[in-house]
Amino acid sequence: MTRIAIVDNEKLKDMQQKLHIQSICPVNRTGKECIRVEENGKLTIDEHLCTGCGICPREAPAAIKIINLPEEMKTKPVHRYGENRFVLYSIPTPSIGRVTGILGVNGIGKSTAIKILASVINPNFGDWQGQQGDYWQLLEYFKGTEAQGFFEKVKGGEIKVAYKPQQVELIPKTTKGKVIELLRKIDERNGLRNISNELQLNEILNNDIAEISGGELQRVAIAATVLKNANLYIFDEPTGYLDIKQRINISKFIKSLITESNSVLVVEHDLIILDYIADLVHLMYGKENCYGIVSGVKPVRNGINVYLSGYIKEENVRFRDSTIKFAEKPPVKKKHFKEVITSWNDIEKKLGNFNLKAHKGSIHRNEIIGILGENGIGKTTFVKVLAGVLEQDKGDITKKVKVSYKPQYLESSDALVIDILKDAFSKYSNQIISPLNLQQLSLNKLSELSGGELQRVAIAHCLQQDADLYLLDEPSAYLDSEQRLILSKVVRDFIEQKEASALIVDHDLLFVDYISDRLIVFEGKPAIEGSVAGPFEMEDGMNKFLKELGITLRRDTETYRPRVNKLDSRLDREQKESGKYYYV
Ligand code: SF4
Repeated sequence: MTRIAIVDNEKLKDMQQKLHIQSICPVNRTGKECIRVEENGKLTIDEHLCTGCGICPREAPAAIKIINLPEEMKTKPVHRYGENRFVLYSIPTPSIGRVTGILGVNGIGKSTAIKILASVINPNFGDWQGQQGDYWQLLEYFKGTEAQGFFEKVKGGEIKVAYKPQQVELIPKTTKGKVIELLRKIDERNGLRNISNELQLNEILNNDIAEISGGELQRVAIAATVLKNANLYIFDEPTGYLDIKQRINISKFIKSLITESNSVLVVEHDLIILDYIADLVHLMYGKENCYGIVSGVKPVRNGINVYLSGYIKEENVRFRDSTIKFAEKPPVKKKHFKEVITSWNDIEKKLGNFNLKAHKGSIHRNEIIGILGENGIGKTTFVKVLAGVLEQDKGDITKKVKVSYKPQYLESSDALVIDILKDAFSKYSNQIISPLNLQQLSLNKLSELSGGELQRVAIAHCLQQDADLYLLDEPSAYLDSEQRLILSKVVRDFIEQKEASALIVDHDLLFVDYISDRLIVFEGKPAIEGSVAGPFEMEDGMNKFLKELGITLRRDTETYRPRVNKLDSRLDREQKESGKYYYV
């Protein structure tokens, strides 16, 4: 049996706890050193001696994981970060002339895998103490696979890789100066003018990198990647911080990079976008923060459907207990939304040069309203006016309600998760803590959390307040596609049980479609004016929004998930002619 032990020493309280864990290991009791407390104070586990009895992970579940790998998993790892740390067993392979997507939960090794392809990480083949692996080892390891051909071409200089990292928010920490200076330095193809036009960067070229927004940073990072002379472009989460219109534009742009002699790899959590952008997909499965395996490549439709089913037939692997399902028909209009909990009438709000108008609308008890619209069009302002954080200049909010608000940007601090989520831990353990997997973060400081962890804490913090209306601003940011769908269920169940209501501002169309009963659509010109239309029934709201975007959606015949129709395809034309931009 192949067994791996993962130990997060940060999550072990003190030396006393470590010595106690060491003392209860049955292998140690026979005189062997399966669990050791090293001179530097770290607890380590010898994977060859461990019998997998399960005693130590029960004692410290957040810190220790013992995993019995499937019998057929006898392969040597591609990379291991250190003793008792994350292991990656295989890597995806790009296909020439195609966009290949990578789909998997957070912490499963997607970024590690693409960093190996981009030569940012030299794989050590599990020998974290030895020399870093060289190219010959790499070729030997992948002998007889498609990856061998890929690495041979990289070595021979035939493949040049350009890579956009995931965390674009870190760029200002390492790069100073104006956007144009950065892009000029990188421009190996003399394509700055064209790319700047295509990615709508002209207006910010003279801005300082430290001062541009997250969405602008994302587009600058994409421009910096494609300005390099390369024939393999790798994009790690290219749609973070972008609104739906920008996501569609970026998808078209990335697709347009493909020629007969180059390839693109994309990691993406927005399933509608991944489906739209990619031709093929690799699934990644395993156990978060412990180990990751890459599946064989599949056509994108089939790959996403397999991902939703949780079972890879060809490899006989079940990586999730349940199947993720979508409804065949648009959500049935609920008849019992009778009680209006808040309503607004001719609201106007001016913020600097920006004007917001909201004509007339209301929210009922026990409903979830999705909010769609471009960045910079006043969504957050509207939400803040409803929450009473900002006072409107004109108009009425006819009923004041108690509001709990999760802001778009998350603030970190040295507070402990358990202190921030006191009420959630005591009152909503089953409804919030357990499905959002927050138990194991309880003793962490907020400043130690990843983006996705901080997001889940912020959502739980919002939901634990006593309120009539919960406003969640971009709750899907930093979450993987599975966490987004789990979150939809958590919010739905919570709102129903509480008999409260929720407004959800988000840019992941599948998430908004999955969670919402009705829709508010924002229109206008970013940074100048925004107007609030709705709430509409789902079909009417989606039709209005998609018409503006110029895309149509159909349901997948097998899983009923929404898919974007190819522009000018038969279905696209038919749906546009009949005015049914949403489902037929
Ligand atoms: Fe020891 Fe392994 Fe059992 Fe832990 S799981 S107590 S390391 S034998």
